Amino acid sequence: MFKLRGHHLFCLLGYRGMGYSKEYVENMTKLHQTLRKNPKSLVQIIEGPDHLCAMYPNSGVYHCKDHHIYVRDEVILEKLGLKLHETYEWKEIENRVRNFVIPSDIQTICETCNWRSYGVCEEGIQHIIDEKGLWKVN
Ligand code: SF4
Repeated sequence: MFKLRGHHLFCLLGYRGMGYSKEYVENMTKLHQTLRKNPKSLVQIIEGPDHLCAMYPNSGVYHCKDHHIYVRDEVILEKLGLKLHETYEWKEIENRVRNFVIPSDIQTICETCNWRSYGVCEEGIQHIIDEKGLWKVN
């Protein structure tokens, strides 16, 4: 079972193999590909630093405990109707994205994120809406 915070549910949709460091990318790719290949994988929703934050490099400015990141987590969980500490199959999370999210939500919910301008997160949401699942990342 993977423990994830709210906003990382969206980040996984847009993930194409980019990240903060080699170790961060390896960890995220492993998680991403596990969810892609086995949508029945279990995800527990937690508050604060999670499975992905654990590999955030020491060299960068650590933002994982910033207030606005917690707010982004809350907004995304509320939008998806997911509850803290509950466990869901990944495919259930994809279903909720399909039903409750549109690509342009990224523009407002993730307004302050540096990755937003790449456009991959909006594309990732569209991919889920089109029932194509997560991107394949090599
Ligand atoms: S814009 Fe940033 S916070 Fe939002 S889903 Fe993409 S990577 Fe995650």
